Amino acid sequence: MVKEHTLDVETDLYCLIGNPVSHSLSPLMHNYAFRKLGLNAVYLAFKVYEDMLQKAVEGLKAFNIKGANVTIPYKTSVIKYLDAIEEDAEKIGAVNTIKNLGGVLSGYNTDWTAAVDLLKERVNNLKGLNALIIGAGGVARAIVYGLIKNGVNVTITDRTVENAEKMVNDLKKQFEESIECGVILLKDVKKEILRFNILINATPIGMTPNINETPVNTEYLPSNIIVFDTVYNPFETLLVKKAKRIGCTVIEGYRMLVKQGALAFKIWTGLAPPVEDMEKIVYSKLKGELVE
Ligand code: NAP
Repeated sequence: MVKEHTLDVETDLYCLIGNPVSHSLSPLMHNYAFRKLGLNAVYLAFKVYEDMLQKAVEGLKAFNIKGANVTIPYKTSVIKYLDAIEEDAEKIGAVNTIKNLGGVLSGYNTDWTAAVDLLKERVNNLKGLNALIIGAGGVARAIVYGLIKNGVNVTITDRTVENAEKMVNDLKKQFEESIECGVILLKDVKKEILRFNILINATPIGMTPNINETPVNTEYLPSNIIVFDTVYNPFETLLVKKAKRIGCTVIEGYRMLVKQGALAFKIWTGLAPPVEDMEKIVYSKLKGELVE
């Protein structure tokens, strides 16, 4: 039973900071979780222009906003305005969650924990597995960090080889011990695919409106590889559809979206949110079934 949302002088405010934010599903899932747990709290999305970012972050303190998510394009640039940053987020160089505790703003990154948690739900022990990540942008960096931290041997491929190499070099500096992390060319994926246990799409390839695209040719995907697509719109990308048909274990992007949100919710409130219900509501919205 989901309770009515009552807003009054006691209501705690949480928000999203980014640009654009109009497509965001975070208000939907967080407000659902607040209602379900009977918390007097509300979550709003704020479109913030770059020259207003500092003021927006200071506004979290001024208005006693209890917590925030940060999305594109501010996950890195927001860091300089925070009072503290959790070690993993600092090493990744990106923050997607801010907690305001008595006017002290601390930054966290729940993208990497979300990705690792989802993989661990499918494989007990990640140590020693081989993963191929396509993409060398922000989400790839968080996921690769999490994989390395869990003993996965990581290979990165990107349309811009220099970006992949730069990411590997940056990450190598963040780990004291030597790490297994290399780069291959996109054209070599076909001949190397059989040595990977996990394939992750960390590019926008396959995202609406380009729903007929896949980041790799799916014809040569083996059925024993785990396919993880970070793209969540559509809820089932062509890569995910084809991988399911082949019989691969699949992790859809909307699950990561919900998981990173759920982990942020836990950081803010200390409470475990209703993850399965949040997944259902986000899935329905993406499928166009949800009537609000
Ligand atoms: P980003 O920092 O802009 O990085 C994008 C990466 O994709 C770069 O490596 C870029 O290559 C590559 N790329 C972009 N367009 C491409 C194309 N047409 N063909 C081949 N490669 C292309 O973006 P991001 O923040 O990492 O996000 C990437 C995607 O992850 C998003 O589009 C979103 O769908 C997904 N995402 C999902 C979640 C979730 O919770 N499920 C969270 C964050 C992001 P270059 O190096 O050449 O620029």
